[in-house]
Amino acid sequence: MSESENGFFNEFGGKYVAEVLRRPLDELEKGFKEAMNDPSFLLELEEIQRDYIGRETPLYYAKTVSDILGGAQIYIKLEGLANTGAHKINNAIGQCLLAKRMGKKRIIAETGAGQHGVATAAACAKLGLDCTVYQGEVDVRRQQPNVAAMEMYGARVLPVTSGSRTLKDAVNEAMRDWAAHPDTTHYVLGSALGPAPFPDIVREFQSVIGKEVKRQAAERNLDVEALIACVGGGSNSIGFFSPFIDEKSPRLIGVEAGGIGPGIGENASRMTGNASRDGIMQGYKSRFLLDDDGQALPTRSISAGLDYCGIGPQLAALGKSGRIEFTSALDDEALEAVRFFARNEGILFALESAHAGAEAIRLAPKLPKNKAIIVNMSGRGDKDVFITSPVFRPKAWLDFLHSEIERLEEKKDIHDAKSMRRHDKITSM
Ligand SMILES: *Cc1c(COP(=O)(O)O)cnc(C)c1O
Repeated sequence: MSESENGFFNEFGGKYVAEVLRRPLDELEKGFKEAMNDPSFLLELEEIQRDYIGRETPLYYAKTVSDILGGAQIYIKLEGLANTGAHKINNAIGQCLLAKRMGKKRIIAETGAGQHGVATAAACAKLGLDCTVYQGEVDVRRQQPNVAAMEMYGARVLPVTSGSRTLKDAVNEAMRDWAAHPDTTHYVLGSALGPAPFPDIVREFQSVIGKEVKRQAAERNLDVEALIACVGGGSNSIGFFSPFIDEKSPRLIGVEAGGIGPGIGENASRMTGNASRDGIMQGYKSRFLLDDDGQALPTRSISAGLDYCGIGPQLAALGKSGRIEFTSALDDEALEAVRFFARNEGILFALESAHAGAEAIRLAPKLPKNKAIIVNMSGRGDKDVFITSPVFRPKAWLDFLHSEIERLEEKKDIHDAKSMRRHDKITSM
């Protein structure tokens, strides 16, 4: 089950969309197939992956951590070293290049925490495309560092005021925009979900992670027991797992957000949680966290990137078949993993990726020393300082924020009209 059959992964997937979206989705499917058979497209993609994203990313042997835990060797795939700090750029660059090949000049995207928005905005800046990002109004307010980055890359961030004013409302708004402007616009969906062909496209562009790992593990003669990845929508995990899906080994382990516990609304465990059921939402059939009326339930996780009620259809199917084993890690376990890898290896995991790190900490001691397990560090943790610092050093962080406000209020009048005019002139060039 390494790709879909007519958009389906067994009973999951499909294209459950309004009539107006059929044509753009069919065109996208055709455009994608053509691009993947075009050597010049693949060559250009490879060049950008190398020179702009910084591929290949290293496979790092975490020797100190492995010795402390006293079991299997832990290796870490450092996707956090990719330009913009996470794996999301792999998909954003791939889809923007595809859009360009299909003659689209305008890109739209949805974003929740803003990570996918940042990656898409950067890709558009690099490729000279117009970029609009839909983001729930609530998220715009609480994710200002990423909003600032998107605007720095020249993207327009449009706050969405419908529904819960978060990620799923941003997806709806982006779909609406795409349906109204299919000829000029491509919708860069951010994870391995949504209507077909998006799950296949996103997996394909993220599979560069797994292909590199396969080569890197073979070069070192590793006896790989398991690959471990965190699972939000599923893009980093499915890209990492993809070259291994049709093989019997290694074990593939997906780690969902366990949040603060197993109660309804306390986690985002779509495969292992209490409220997990089959459903159809936002154009695809999969596993979701739903109430008795089939409405999306609230989710909770310390990591914004895992905080979503749905999971990609291929992951749902592979979970059901047993090829991917699902487990979860609690907020506290993720935080502890961040600290453990930072202290002992000098590697700062993103909170999302730290869920995979937490599972590695649990699994490694149970395995013999000649076995290897590989953790995908989907992103680096710099972006999480607003969450981790209040936990690990609350007083110092609060003092810092107070002093920043003071500093800004004092210096309010320093940026006089003249210097603002100079800025305007530079940005319009
Ligand atoms: C968005 C994000 C995730 C979760 O998304 P997937 O599609 O499941 O990969 C994981 N890690 C990081 C760093 C992210 O930014």
